[in-house]
Amino acid sequence: MKWETVIGLEVHVELSTETKMFCSCPAIFGAEPNTLCCPVCMGMPGALPTINAKAVEYAAMAGLALNCAVSPYSRFDRKNYFYPDLPKAYQISQLYHPLCTNGFIEIDVNGNKKKIRIKEIHMEEDAGKLFHSDSGETKIDFNRCGIPLIEIVSEADLSDEEEVTAYLEKLKLTLEYLGVSTCRMQEGALRADINLSVKKKDETELGVRTEMKNMNSFREIRRAVKSESERQISVLENGGVIVQETRRWDEEKGVSVSMRNKENVHDYRYFPEPDLPPIVLESEWIDLVKNKIPALAHERVLKYVELFGVSHADAKIITSQRALADFFENVCTRCENVKMASNLIVTEVVRLLKDDGIQASDMKLSAEKFAQIINLADRGDINVGTAKKIIAVAFSQNIDVPDYIKSNSLEQINDELVILPVAKDVVESNPKSLSDYMSGKKKAYGFLVGQIMEQFGFKANPTKVNECLMKILDEKSGGN
Ligand SMILES: [Zn+2]
Repeated sequence: MKWETVIGLEVHVELSTETKMFCSCPAIFGAEPNTLCCPVCMGMPGALPTINAKAVEYAAMAGLALNCAVSPYSRFDRKNYFYPDLPKAYQISQLYHPLCTNGFIEIDVNGNKKKIRIKEIHMEEDAGKLFHSDSGETKIDFNRCGIPLIEIVSEADLSDEEEVTAYLEKLKLTLEYLGVSTCRMQEGALRADINLSVKKKDETELGVRTEMKNMNSFREIRRAVKSESERQISVLENGGVIVQETRRWDEEKGVSVSMRNKENVHDYRYFPEPDLPPIVLESEWIDLVKNKIPALAHERVLKYVELFGVSHADAKIITSQRALADFFENVCTRCENVKMASNLIVTEVVRLLKDDGIQASDMKLSAEKFAQIINLADRGDINVGTAKKIIAVAFSQNIDVPDYIKSNSLEQINDELVILPVAKDVVESNPKSLSDYMSGKKKAYGFLVGQIMEQFGFKANPTKVNECLMKILDEKSGGN
Protein backbone atom coordinates (compact mmCIF):
# COMPACT_ATOMS: atom_id res chain seq x y z
CA MET A 1 0.00 0.00 0.00
CA LYS A 2 1.31 3.37 -0.94
CA TRP A 3 0.62 6.20 1.48
CA GLU A 4 1.27 9.87 1.17
CA THR A 5 1.51 12.49 3.86
CA VAL A 6 -0.24 15.84 3.57
CA ILE A 7 1.06 18.68 5.75
CA GLY A 8 0.00 22.26 6.28
CA LEU A 9 1.76 24.66 8.62
CA GLU A 10 0.55 27.53 10.75
CA VAL A 11 3.58 29.54 11.77
CA HIS A 12 3.35 32.14 14.53
CA VAL A 13 5.95 34.88 14.36
CA GLU A 14 6.46 37.58 16.97
CA LEU A 15 7.08 40.96 15.37
CA SER A 16 10.02 42.93 16.74
CA THR A 17 8.21 46.23 17.20
CA GLU A 18 9.19 48.40 20.15
CA THR A 19 5.73 48.23 21.70
CA LYS A 20 2.91 45.70 21.94
CA MET A 21 0.08 45.19 19.44
CA PHE A 22 -2.63 47.20 21.18
CA CYS A 23 -0.90 49.19 23.96
CA SER A 24 2.37 51.04 24.55
CA CYS A 25 4.00 48.44 26.81
CA PRO A 26 7.52 47.49 25.60
CA ALA A 27 7.62 44.29 23.54
CA ILE A 28 10.80 42.82 25.00
CA PHE A 29 11.83 39.23 25.65
CA GLY A 30 13.40 38.20 28.93
CA ALA A 31 12.32 41.01 31.30
CA GLU A 32 11.38 40.41 34.96
CA PRO A 33 8.02 38.60 34.93
CA ASN A 34 4.91 40.80 34.98
CA THR A 35 6.77 44.10 34.69
CA LEU A 36 5.64 44.92 31.14
CA CYS A 37 1.87 44.98 31.49
CA CYS A 38 -0.90 47.56 31.62
CA PRO A 39 -4.71 47.48 31.87
CA VAL A 40 -5.01 47.01 28.09
CA CYS A 41 -2.79 43.94 27.71
CA MET A 42 -4.06 42.57 31.04
CA GLY A 43 -7.60 42.77 29.69
CA MET A 44 -9.04 45.00 32.44
CA PRO A 45 -12.67 45.98 31.90
CA GLY A 46 -13.01 49.33 30.17
CA ALA A 47 -9.43 49.48 28.87
CA LEU A 48 -9.40 50.23 25.14
CA PRO A 49 -6.88 48.89 22.61
CA THR A 50 -5.27 50.93 19.82
CA ILE A 51 -3.59 49.45 16.74
CA ASN A 52 0.23 49.53 16.52
CA ALA A 53 0.91 51.02 13.05
CA LYS A 54 4.45 49.62 12.96
CA ALA A 55 3.08 46.10 13.47
CA VAL A 56 0.72 46.58 10.52
CA GLU A 57 3.66 47.78 8.42
CA TYR A 58 5.81 44.77 9.43
CA ALA A 59 2.96 42.34 8.74
CA ALA A 60 2.30 43.90 5.33
CA MET A 61 6.02 43.79 4.53
CA ALA A 62 6.15 40.09 5.42
CA GLY A 63 3.12 39.49 3.21
CA LEU A 64 4.61 41.32 0.24
CA ALA A 65 7.95 39.50 0.59
CA LEU A 66 6.02 36.20 0.66
CA ASN A 67 4.21 37.09 -2.57
CA CYS A 68 0.86 37.82 -0.91
CA ALA A 69 -1.70 40.45 -1.80
CA VAL A 70 -2.12 43.02 0.98
CA SER A 71 -5.79 43.70 1.48
CA PRO A 72 -6.87 47.34 1.31
CA TYR A 73 -9.48 46.47 3.95
CA SER A 74 -8.90 44.18 6.89
CA ARG A 75 -10.38 43.92 10.34
CA PHE A 76 -9.86 42.37 13.76
CA ASP A 77 -12.11 39.74 15.30
CA ARG A 78 -12.50 38.36 18.79
CA LYS A 79 -11.60 34.73 19.26
CA ASN A 80 -13.26 33.71 22.51
CA TYR A 81 -11.77 31.06 24.69
CA PHE A 82 -10.80 30.59 28.28
CA TYR A 83 -7.21 29.85 29.04
CA PRO A 84 -5.17 30.87 32.09
CA ASP A 85 -2.55 32.69 30.01
CA LEU A 86 -5.17 34.93 28.42
CA PRO A 87 -6.74 37.18 31.06
CA LYS A 88 -9.26 38.77 28.65
CA ALA A 89 -10.74 35.33 27.85
CA TYR A 90 -10.51 36.30 24.21
CA GLN A 91 -7.71 36.93 21.77
CA ILE A 92 -7.87 39.74 19.24
CA SER A 93 -7.15 38.07 15.89
CA GLN A 94 -8.32 38.23 12.27
CA LEU A 95 -10.69 35.62 10.88
CA TYR A 96 -13.02 37.13 8.29
CA HIS A 97 -10.73 39.76 6.75
CA PRO A 98 -7.04 38.88 7.14
CA LEU A 99 -4.36 41.41 6.20
CA CYS A 100 -2.61 39.31 3.51
CA THR A 101 -3.79 36.50 1.24
CA ASN A 102 -2.67 34.22 -1.60
CA GLY A 103 1.11 34.10 -1.38
CA PHE A 104 3.68 31.38 -1.82
CA ILE A 105 7.17 30.29 -0.88
CA GLU A 106 9.26 28.46 -3.44
CA ILE A 107 11.31 25.71 -1.84
CA ASP A 108 14.17 23.69 -3.25
CA VAL A 109 14.77 20.18 -1.91
CA ASN A 110 17.80 18.57 -3.58
CA GLY A 111 17.21 20.53 -6.75
CA ASN A 112 13.44 19.85 -6.86
CA LYS A 113 11.64 23.17 -6.84
CA LYS A 114 8.11 23.38 -5.46
CA LYS A 115 5.75 26.24 -4.74
CA ILE A 116 4.08 26.05 -1.35
CA ARG A 117 0.98 28.22 -1.33
CA ILE A 118 0.31 30.60 1.55
CA LYS A 119 -3.42 30.89 2.21
CA GLU A 120 -3.22 33.96 4.39
CA ILE A 121 -1.29 35.96 6.94
CA HIS A 122 -3.31 37.39 9.76
CA MET A 123 -2.40 39.58 12.69
CA GLU A 124 -3.09 38.82 16.32
CA GLU A 125 -1.72 39.21 19.82
CA ASP A 126 0.35 36.71 21.77
CA ALA A 127 -0.85 35.21 25.06
CA GLY A 128 1.04 35.12 28.37
CA LYS A 129 3.37 32.35 29.38
CA LEU A 130 2.85 29.59 31.92
CA PHE A 131 5.64 27.99 33.92
CA HIS A 132 4.90 24.61 35.45
CA SER A 133 7.19 23.61 38.32
CA ASP A 134 7.98 20.05 39.35
CA SER A 135 6.13 20.56 42.63
CA GLY A 136 2.90 21.08 40.70
CA GLU A 137 2.82 24.87 40.97
CA THR A 138 2.04 26.96 37.92
CA LYS A 139 3.33 30.50 37.61
CA ILE A 140 2.26 32.97 34.98
CA ASP A 141 4.08 35.80 33.23
CA PHE A 142 1.85 38.29 31.43
CA ASN A 143 4.75 40.15 29.74
CA ARG A 144 4.13 38.25 26.52
CA CYS A 145 0.41 39.16 26.51
CA GLY A 146 -0.19 41.48 23.59
CA ILE A 147 3.14 41.01 21.76
CA PRO A 148 2.30 41.46 18.05
CA LEU A 149 2.07 38.20 16.15
CA ILE A 150 1.51 37.24 12.57
CA GLU A 151 0.18 33.81 11.76
CA ILE A 152 1.30 32.53 8.38
CA VAL A 153 -1.06 29.81 7.20
CA SER A 154 0.10 27.56 4.38
CA GLU A 155 -2.08 25.35 2.21
CA ALA A 156 -1.60 21.61 2.77
CA ASP A 157 1.07 21.47 0.05
CA LEU A 158 3.91 19.87 2.00
CA SER A 159 4.62 16.16 1.94
CA ASP A 160 7.51 15.31 4.25
CA GLU A 161 9.98 16.57 6.82
CA GLU A 162 12.47 17.69 4.12
CA GLU A 163 9.89 20.00 2.56
CA VAL A 164 8.70 21.24 5.94
CA THR A 165 12.27 22.13 6.91
CA ALA A 166 12.97 23.82 3.57
CA TYR A 167 9.76 25.86 3.90
CA LEU A 168 10.49 26.96 7.47
CA GLU A 169 14.12 27.80 6.70
CA LYS A 170 13.15 29.96 3.74
CA LEU A 171 10.40 31.64 5.74
CA LYS A 172 12.72 32.33 8.67
CA LEU A 173 15.48 33.67 6.43
CA THR A 174 13.06 35.97 4.60
CA LEU A 175 11.70 37.42 7.85
CA GLU A 176 15.24 37.86 9.18
CA TYR A 177 16.23 39.79 6.05
CA LEU A 178 13.15 41.98 6.45
CA GLY A 179 14.10 42.64 10.07
CA VAL A 180 10.48 42.27 11.18
CA SER A 181 11.22 39.55 13.77
CA THR A 182 14.19 38.22 15.69
CA CYS A 183 12.97 34.75 14.61
CA ARG A 184 14.74 33.35 17.69
CA MET A 185 13.06 29.98 17.92
CA GLN A 186 14.55 29.21 21.33
CA GLU A 187 12.76 32.33 22.63
CA GLY A 188 9.50 31.29 20.97
CA ALA A 189 9.63 34.13 18.44
CA LEU A 190 8.90 31.64 15.65
CA ARG A 191 6.80 28.55 16.35
CA ALA A 192 4.99 26.18 14.08
CA ASP A 193 1.75 24.23 14.37
CA ILE A 194 1.88 21.14 12.19
CA ASN A 195 -1.36 19.87 10.64
CA LEU A 196 -0.77 16.41 9.29
CA SER A 197 -2.86 13.67 7.69
CA VAL A 198 -2.16 10.67 5.51
CA LYS A 199 -4.06 9.16 2.61
CA LYS A 200 -3.58 6.47 0.02
CA LYS A 201 -1.95 7.81 -3.11
CA ASP A 202 -4.90 7.16 -5.42
CA GLU A 203 -7.44 8.75 -3.07
CA THR A 204 -8.53 12.32 -3.73
CA GLU A 205 -10.09 13.02 -0.35
CA LEU A 206 -7.83 14.10 2.50
CA GLY A 207 -7.51 11.97 5.61
CA VAL A 208 -8.41 13.13 9.15
CA ARG A 209 -5.70 15.43 10.43
CA THR A 210 -4.04 15.94 13.77
CA GLU A 211 -2.33 19.06 14.98
CA MET A 212 0.93 19.39 16.90
CA LYS A 213 1.23 22.89 18.34
CA ASN A 214 3.99 25.31 19.24
CA MET A 215 7.00 23.46 17.87
CA ASN A 216 10.09 25.66 18.02
CA SER A 217 13.06 23.54 17.02
CA PHE A 218 13.92 22.34 13.52
CA ARG A 219 15.25 19.07 14.90
CA GLU A 220 12.07 18.27 16.82
CA ILE A 221 9.86 19.39 13.93
CA ARG A 222 11.61 16.92 11.64
CA ARG A 223 11.27 14.10 14.15
CA ALA A 224 7.63 14.93 14.90
CA VAL A 225 6.60 15.02 11.22
CA LYS A 226 8.22 11.68 10.53
CA SER A 227 6.90 10.01 13.67
CA GLU A 228 3.32 11.30 13.36
CA SER A 229 3.14 10.28 9.72
CA GLU A 230 4.33 6.77 10.61
CA ARG A 231 1.89 6.57 13.54
CA GLN A 232 -1.12 7.45 11.38
CA ILE A 233 -0.16 4.98 8.65
CA SER A 234 0.31 2.25 11.25
CA VAL A 235 -3.09 3.00 12.87
CA LEU A 236 -4.86 2.87 9.49
CA GLU A 237 -3.04 -0.26 8.34
CA ASN A 238 -4.15 -1.99 11.53
CA GLY A 239 -7.77 -1.10 10.84
CA GLY A 240 -7.98 1.83 13.26
CA VAL A 241 -9.25 5.37 12.71
CA ILE A 242 -7.52 8.71 13.13
CA VAL A 243 -9.24 11.13 15.51
CA GLN A 244 -9.13 14.84 14.81
CA GLU A 245 -7.21 16.11 17.81
CA THR A 246 -4.40 18.21 19.15
CA ARG A 247 -1.35 16.18 20.03
CA ARG A 248 1.69 17.12 22.06
CA TRP A 249 5.15 16.13 20.86
CA ASP A 250 7.09 14.41 23.63
CA GLU A 251 10.74 15.18 22.88
CA GLU A 252 12.16 12.70 25.34
CA LYS A 253 10.06 9.73 24.27
CA GLY A 254 10.07 10.75 20.59
CA VAL A 255 6.31 10.23 20.22
CA SER A 256 3.24 12.45 20.03
CA VAL A 257 0.57 12.04 22.71
CA SER A 258 -3.09 13.00 22.59
CA MET A 259 -3.90 16.28 24.39
CA ARG A 260 -7.46 17.25 23.58
CA ASN A 261 -10.00 17.05 20.82
CA LYS A 262 -9.33 19.67 18.24
CA GLU A 263 -11.67 22.64 18.34
CA ASN A 264 -13.42 23.75 15.21
CA VAL A 265 -13.56 27.36 14.19
CA HIS A 266 -17.19 27.75 15.32
CA ASP A 267 -16.21 26.76 18.88
CA TYR A 268 -14.48 30.11 19.28
CA ARG A 269 -17.60 32.20 18.63
CA TYR A 270 -15.67 34.74 16.61
CA PHE A 271 -17.23 38.16 16.16
CA PRO A 272 -15.89 41.48 14.85
CA GLU A 273 -13.80 43.27 17.49
CA PRO A 274 -16.01 46.23 18.48
CA ASP A 275 -13.20 48.25 20.10
CA LEU A 276 -11.06 48.63 16.96
CA PRO A 277 -11.69 50.29 13.61
CA PRO A 278 -10.98 48.39 10.38
CA ILE A 279 -7.52 48.75 8.83
CA VAL A 280 -7.86 50.64 5.55
CA LEU A 281 -4.67 50.77 3.50
CA GLU A 282 -4.16 52.97 0.46
CA SER A 283 -2.22 51.57 -2.47
CA GLU A 284 0.39 54.36 -2.11
CA TRP A 285 1.09 53.20 1.45
CA ILE A 286 1.41 49.59 0.30
CA ASP A 287 3.86 50.71 -2.41
CA LEU A 288 5.92 52.56 0.18
CA VAL A 289 6.17 49.38 2.26
CA LYS A 290 7.10 47.39 -0.84
CA ASN A 291 9.96 49.81 -1.51
CA LYS A 292 11.38 49.21 1.94
CA ILE A 293 11.92 45.49 1.24
CA PRO A 294 15.68 44.84 1.01
CA ALA A 295 17.26 42.39 -1.43
CA LEU A 296 16.41 38.95 -0.04
CA ALA A 297 18.75 35.97 0.33
CA HIS A 298 17.94 34.25 -2.98
CA GLU A 299 18.30 37.56 -4.86
CA ARG A 300 21.67 38.19 -3.24
CA VAL A 301 22.87 34.69 -4.17
CA LEU A 302 22.29 35.54 -7.84
CA LYS A 303 23.99 38.91 -7.47
CA TYR A 304 27.09 37.45 -5.78
CA VAL A 305 27.44 34.74 -8.41
CA GLU A 306 26.92 37.03 -11.40
CA LEU A 307 28.54 40.23 -10.20
CA PHE A 308 31.32 39.02 -7.94
CA GLY A 309 32.05 35.57 -9.40
CA VAL A 310 31.43 33.85 -6.06
CA SER A 311 30.55 30.15 -6.35
CA HIS A 312 26.90 29.27 -5.81
CA ALA A 313 27.74 27.18 -2.74
CA ASP A 314 29.75 30.01 -1.15
CA ALA A 315 27.02 32.56 -1.97
CA LYS A 316 24.51 30.33 -0.15
CA ILE A 317 26.72 30.25 2.94
CA ILE A 318 27.31 34.01 2.91
CA THR A 319 23.58 34.75 2.56
CA SER A 320 22.57 32.27 5.25
CA GLN A 321 22.59 35.19 7.71
CA ARG A 322 21.66 38.70 6.70
CA ALA A 323 24.38 40.22 8.89
CA LEU A 324 26.99 38.06 7.15
CA ALA A 325 25.71 39.08 3.70
CA ASP A 326 25.76 42.75 4.75
CA PHE A 327 29.29 42.24 6.08
CA PHE A 328 30.41 40.74 2.76
CA GLU A 329 28.87 43.60 0.73
CA ASN A 330 30.50 46.13 3.03
CA VAL A 331 33.86 44.37 2.55
CA CYS A 332 33.36 44.35 -1.24
CA THR A 333 33.15 48.15 -1.33
CA ARG A 334 36.54 48.31 0.35
CA CYS A 335 38.67 45.75 -1.49
CA GLU A 336 39.53 44.63 -4.99
CA ASN A 337 40.08 40.96 -4.37
CA VAL A 338 36.45 39.94 -3.77
CA LYS A 339 37.29 36.31 -4.44
CA MET A 340 39.81 36.22 -1.59
CA ALA A 341 37.33 38.02 0.66
CA SER A 342 34.52 35.54 -0.02
CA ASN A 343 36.89 32.58 0.42
CA LEU A 344 38.09 33.79 3.79
CA ILE A 345 34.56 34.62 4.97
CA VAL A 346 33.27 31.17 4.03
CA THR A 347 36.23 29.38 5.60
CA GLU A 348 37.65 31.48 8.45
CA VAL A 349 34.83 33.79 9.56
CA VAL A 350 32.17 31.08 9.41
CA ARG A 351 34.41 28.73 11.39
CA LEU A 352 35.13 31.36 14.05
CA LEU A 353 31.40 32.11 14.38
CA LYS A 354 30.69 28.41 14.80
CA ASP A 355 33.48 27.95 17.36
CA ASP A 356 32.12 30.83 19.46
CA GLY A 357 28.52 29.76 18.90
CA ILE A 358 27.49 33.28 17.88
CA GLN A 359 25.59 34.86 15.01
CA ALA A 360 27.19 37.22 12.52
CA SER A 361 25.02 40.01 13.95
CA ASP A 362 26.91 39.67 17.26
CA MET A 363 30.36 39.56 15.64
CA LYS A 364 32.94 42.16 16.75
CA LEU A 365 35.15 41.91 13.64
CA SER A 366 34.32 44.92 11.48
CA ALA A 367 34.13 44.93 7.70
CA GLU A 368 36.73 47.75 7.65
CA LYS A 369 39.28 45.67 9.54
CA PHE A 370 38.57 42.51 7.57
CA ALA A 371 38.94 44.40 4.27
CA GLN A 372 42.21 45.89 5.54
CA ILE A 373 43.59 42.38 6.17
CA ILE A 374 42.42 41.18 2.73
CA ASN A 375 44.05 44.19 1.05
CA LEU A 376 47.37 43.56 2.82
CA ALA A 377 47.30 39.93 1.67
CA ASP A 378 46.25 40.94 -1.83
CA ARG A 379 49.20 43.36 -2.08
CA GLY A 380 51.59 40.68 -0.82
CA ASP A 381 52.47 42.47 2.42
CA ILE A 382 51.39 39.34 4.29
CA ASN A 383 50.63 35.88 2.97
CA VAL A 384 47.19 34.26 3.11
CA GLY A 385 48.15 31.98 5.99
CA THR A 386 49.13 35.02 8.04
CA ALA A 387 45.92 36.78 6.99
CA LYS A 388 43.95 33.86 8.47
CA LYS A 389 45.85 34.13 11.76
CA ILE A 390 45.22 37.88 11.95
CA ILE A 391 41.52 37.40 11.17
CA ALA A 392 41.29 35.01 14.12
CA VAL A 393 42.94 37.57 16.42
CA ALA A 394 40.86 40.50 15.13
CA PHE A 395 37.74 38.35 15.60
CA SER A 396 38.13 38.38 19.36
CA GLN A 397 40.36 41.40 20.06
CA ASN A 398 40.34 44.99 19.00
CA ILE A 399 43.71 45.25 17.27
CA ASP A 400 45.32 47.83 14.99
CA VAL A 401 46.18 45.59 12.05
CA PRO A 402 49.38 47.32 10.78
CA ASP A 403 50.69 47.67 14.35
CA TYR A 404 49.95 44.02 15.05
CA ILE A 405 51.83 42.92 11.91
CA LYS A 406 54.78 45.12 12.78
CA SER A 407 55.09 44.16 16.41
CA ASN A 408 54.81 40.43 15.59
CA SER A 409 57.07 40.66 12.48
CA LEU A 410 54.44 39.05 10.29
CA GLU A 411 55.45 40.72 7.02
CA GLN A 412 55.67 38.37 4.07
CA ILE A 413 59.15 37.30 2.93
CA ASN A 414 59.27 37.84 -0.82
CA ASP A 415 63.00 38.05 -1.54
CA GLU A 416 64.25 35.12 -3.63
CA LEU A 417 67.78 35.79 -2.48
CA VAL A 418 66.57 35.01 1.03
CA ILE A 419 64.33 32.10 0.11
CA LEU A 420 66.62 30.24 -2.33
CA PRO A 421 69.47 29.33 0.06
CA VAL A 422 67.04 28.13 2.72
CA ALA A 423 65.19 26.04 0.11
CA LYS A 424 68.52 24.52 -0.96
CA ASP A 425 69.35 23.61 2.65
CA VAL A 426 65.98 21.95 3.09
CA VAL A 427 66.40 19.88 -0.07
CA GLU A 428 69.94 18.86 0.92
CA SER A 429 68.89 17.77 4.38
CA ASN A 430 65.92 15.71 3.09
CA PRO A 431 67.54 13.29 0.61
CA LYS A 432 64.73 10.75 1.02
CA SER A 433 62.09 13.31 -0.06
CA LEU A 434 64.28 14.35 -2.96
CA SER A 435 64.62 10.79 -4.26
CA ASP A 436 60.89 10.20 -3.69
CA TYR A 437 60.12 13.27 -5.76
CA MET A 438 62.51 12.18 -8.50
CA SER A 439 60.78 8.80 -8.67
CA GLY A 440 57.45 10.53 -9.23
CA LYS A 441 55.98 10.71 -5.73
CA LYS A 442 54.10 14.04 -5.77
CA LYS A 443 53.53 14.01 -2.01
CA ALA A 444 57.26 14.58 -1.42
CA TYR A 445 56.99 17.96 -3.13
CA GLY A 446 54.31 19.16 -0.73
CA PHE A 447 56.42 17.99 2.18
CA LEU A 448 59.42 20.02 0.99
CA VAL A 449 57.27 23.14 0.55
CA GLY A 450 55.98 22.67 4.08
CA GLN A 451 59.53 22.34 5.43
CA ILE A 452 60.67 25.53 3.72
CA MET A 453 57.60 27.44 4.91
CA GLU A 454 58.28 26.24 8.43
CA GLN A 455 61.86 27.60 8.24
CA PHE A 456 60.32 31.01 7.64
CA GLY A 457 57.70 30.71 10.34
CA PHE A 458 55.14 30.30 7.53
CA LYS A 459 55.62 33.93 6.52
CA ALA A 460 57.28 33.32 3.14
CA ASN A 461 55.52 34.02 -0.13
CA PRO A 462 54.22 30.58 -1.22
CA THR A 463 54.51 31.44 -4.93
CA LYS A 464 58.16 32.41 -4.48
CA VAL A 465 58.82 29.28 -2.42
CA ASN A 466 57.37 27.18 -5.22
CA GLU A 467 59.46 28.96 -7.83
CA CYS A 468 62.67 28.50 -5.84
CA LEU A 469 61.97 24.86 -5.11
CA MET A 470 61.14 24.13 -8.75
CA LYS A 471 64.37 25.81 -9.80
CA ILE A 472 66.37 23.60 -7.42
CA LEU A 473 64.55 20.41 -8.41
CA ASP A 474 64.89 21.18 -12.11
CA GLU A 475 68.63 21.61 -11.65
CA LYS A 476 68.81 18.32 -9.73
CA SER A 477 66.89 16.35 -12.34
CA GLY A 478 68.90 18.03 -15.14
CA GLY A 479 72.07 16.91 -13.38
CA ASN A 480 70.89 13.29 -13.20
ZN1 LIG B 1 0.11 46.87 27.90
